[in-house]
Amino acid sequence: MQTEKIPYKIYLEESEMPTAWYNLRADMEKKPAPLLNPETLKPMTAEELSPVFCDELIKQELDEDTAYFEIPEEIRSFYRMYRPAPLVRAYCLEEKLGTPAKIYYKFEGNNTSGSHKLNSAIAQAYYAKKQGLTGVTTETGAGQWGTALSMACSYFDLDCKVYMVKCSYEQKPFRREVMRTYGATVTPSPSMETAVGRKILAEHPDTTGSLGCAISEAVEKATSLEGYRYVLGSVLNQVMLHQTVIGIETKTALDKYGIKPDMIIGCAGGGSNLGGLIAPFMGKKLRGEADYQIIAVEPCSCPSLTRGVYAYDYCDTGMICPLAKMYTLGSGYIPSPSHSGGLRYHGMNPILSELYAQGLMEARSVEQTKVFESAQFFARVEGTLPAPESAHAIHVAIEEALKCKETGEEKTILFGLTGTGYFDMLSYGKFNDGVMGDYMPTDEELAEAQKTLPKVE
Ligand SMILES: *Cc1c(COP(=O)(O)O)cnc(C)c1O
Repeated sequence: MQTEKIPYKIYLEESEMPTAWYNLRADMEKKPAPLLNPETLKPMTAEELSPVFCDELIKQELDEDTAYFEIPEEIRSFYRMYRPAPLVRAYCLEEKLGTPAKIYYKFEGNNTSGSHKLNSAIAQAYYAKKQGLTGVTTETGAGQWGTALSMACSYFDLDCKVYMVKCSYEQKPFRREVMRTYGATVTPSPSMETAVGRKILAEHPDTTGSLGCAISEAVEKATSLEGYRYVLGSVLNQVMLHQTVIGIETKTALDKYGIKPDMIIGCAGGGSNLGGLIAPFMGKKLRGEADYQIIAVEPCSCPSLTRGVYAYDYCDTGMICPLAKMYTLGSGYIPSPSHSGGLRYHGMNPILSELYAQGLMEARSVEQTKVFESAQFFARVEGTLPAPESAHAIHVAIEEALKCKETGEEKTILFGLTGTGYFDMLSYGKFNDGVMGDYMPTDEELAEAQKTLPKVE
């Protein structure tokens, strides 16, 4: 029983911060399917991955047995500059909703890059530096990953080339300038700099770009330049591994007060923040030590878990990355440009996909106008301006808290507030002007995109 009043913010001492990342696969009886080589359709070996990815990160990607990876001291000292991220008891929100539910959120937007992505960016930059590389290339959609990576690269004195989805490049000049301030080169994608970019532009001259296409350009650049590797801010298992600092910190903080969440909610783009938040809890669930209701929230316009298929697919539009078995809409799926709420990726992390296939977590999809209504409500009540991505989780947390109000259940709800909305004011502007629409792909559109799936026996 809780006797002490829970503070608004539960902080951790430096000595209580995580010293290792947790690899959820170690506790999975049925492991996620292996990455496949798109040419041979055989499991990808470390050797085959090494022209594209950093060696240490490949080890983390392929390792499904080691439960804990020690966080190197250099990374821990960087983490100490902006972590622990606050775990907030949303007393004001609870009161405003009149719910008996107890609501907690973990806020990852307190660093300059504005989101959880820095947790993995700093790890990836560290391993690239340790390998003696000159630089890294990457893609960025909304800009958070590129920003995080530029910060991490400047810290370790690495060159950083960012391919930014064209519509974001145009819509988010401030993101672009933050990256350039940290020393990164930013190119709108598709670009004429790469063969894949030129091909896509020849076929679709008016395209506003997509994450998958930007990934292809970044991979091509990394493999054609000496001393460069490609790094990715979501989807991959290594990224989810680094993001487990979110969940481990959260669990340590909750444990201090004997709090057990009944429900854990996170927004899902490629799945890294959700996977990182739920990891230690899911671990307990897999080991049969506790049960939690876990909900992934995705946009209606890019519904990979709720309307996708569980199949091998390319991680990128250029079809050069390995094949991953995941819930996917097809790598050729490009969400409508009217969708401004982030989470645009066509697939979902393979670990989360397998957990979802096993029925260990749920998924819901929500319309962006509803998401922005909840974002605005949350900003007014809790003070923090959320990223639209994060507001997907807020929306479902509010829905669930309102259900508790009807049933009188005192559930404990935990959700991930992944970032700040400061860089999303154009989208907020559309919402405030009442010109934001909702977009839901038809079954025919989804079927069309599924035709881009590779044939894997
Ligand atoms: C990138 C991003 C997401 C989605 O990515 P995941 O890998 O699914 O976590 C969510 N929220 C914010 C603020 C982001 O920047």
